[in-house]
Amino acid sequence: MAKKNYKKLEEQLTLKKKNIWEVWDDKTKKEAFSFAEGYKEFLNQAKTEREATRAGILIAKQNGFKNIAEVKNLKFGDKVYYAHRNRSLILATIGKEKISNGFRFIMSHIDSPHLDLKVTPLYEEENLAFFKTHYYGGIKKYQWPTIALALHGVVYLAGGKEMEINIGEDINDPVFMITDLLPHLDRPTGPGGEIRKREVQGEDLNLLIGSIPVNEKNVKEKVKLAVLEYLFNKYGIKEDDFASAELEAVPCEKARDLGFDRSLICAYGHDDSICSFAAIKALADSKNNEITKICVWIDREEIGSEGATGAQSIFIENFIANLLELSGEEGKIKNVYAAFSNAKAISADVCAGVDPDYKDVFDLRSAPRLGAGAVMEKYTGAGGKVHTSEASAKFVREIKDILNKNKNIIYQVSGNLGAKVDLGGGGTIAMFMANRDMDIVDMGVPLFNMHAPLEIASKADLYCAYLGYKAFFEN
Ligand SMILES: [Zn+2]
Repeated sequence: MAKKNYKKLEEQLTLKKKNIWEVWDDKTKKEAFSFAEGYKEFLNQAKTEREATRAGILIAKQNGFKNIAEVKNLKFGDKVYYAHRNRSLILATIGKEKISNGFRFIMSHIDSPHLDLKVTPLYEEENLAFFKTHYYGGIKKYQWPTIALALHGVVYLAGGKEMEINIGEDINDPVFMITDLLPHLDRPTGPGGEIRKREVQGEDLNLLIGSIPVNEKNVKEKVKLAVLEYLFNKYGIKEDDFASAELEAVPCEKARDLGFDRSLICAYGHDDSICSFAAIKALADSKNNEITKICVWIDREEIGSEGATGAQSIFIENFIANLLELSGEEGKIKNVYAAFSNAKAISADVCAGVDPDYKDVFDLRSAPRLGAGAVMEKYTGAGGKVHTSEASAKFVREIKDILNKNKNIIYQVSGNLGAKVDLGGGGTIAMFMANRDMDIVDMGVPLFNMHAPLEIASKADLYCAYLGYKAFFEN
């Protein structure tokens, strides 16, 4: 009897992670690098929800999408977009099938952790002027002092005039900074002689914004007044106007290649611009087919998806009702929910890649690796699968079969954010769409430094996400 070829059997039966750079040919690698150039440009234009929405509308228009408000009816092949309150965006390509028969749906988010200015942010202390901030999303506070920050956003002046602010992006602009204590004075010893370090607190996240006083003895806070004078002369802003402002401090660093081989990108806001960009490109590049395809960029994910522009908002139902009516179906809620029930969806969000310096928190058998492809997260959540959205086994099989058709789509399957049981975890918008009776699975790009001012992603994983989303839209 011939000896069994176990080497071959091993290849056939066991699961191995692939290193994309070892699988792709040179042509595909080149495509991935060129795709990343467009992505970096997008990152630099879209650091806030408003800016991302604006950049998304531009991409939509360049690809033949029309504002849904200007459309009288919809038929096969039509492309429309809808911007919701300037902070969320939906794009749709109409298929041949009735919309109530379902659609392909990819949803990602365009908000990233940052520092919001408080409602009365401006104060003076020790002849210096500061802005107080309130952090947005899950951050490690110690990462935000001593880096150059830019201010982005809008202020609504009396009468409703919208004033846009963007300071710190141009190389000639000033920047702002949260200070930190020097190490020499940051080592008081405790009762037992142990060294105690001061932790950065939420109320320590104050931006230094000025130091020259007005030239007037009788004014109490001269530097603060000088800042107000500048803001009033330049933008018409008074102290009272900060309450009607949305001003965000974000890292002013631009997206840059990382590594000698330039295979990685370090940038602010990969979470979740990377999936958002891949998804909108996938929609724009995918061929028209039977089913309607929808790409949603959503706000408020980092703080629980609450609010009018978040994934729990009814504006999504409203948009589907509009699609139904414009395409000749009744826009009643029953049809909207029928469309959701028949839909297939991807929640496109990032996850953590195994960082060799912090291996202990990962379940190394199932955790994602950078450069090993797009990550399908079968389930998210934490603890005993609390706040979990879990894709059905059947749906995971279906998506895998779609991805497997293209040998260049390398992907890995994970769960629980790659973390060991009871060692953290996290949620995505998938659960809010699953609650609408949708078949949905998470699929995105693994990162290092998630939620830090600068995050790291692989160009190979980005391109795999794009190819994967495109395949999903087309099949
Ligand atoms: Zn995210």
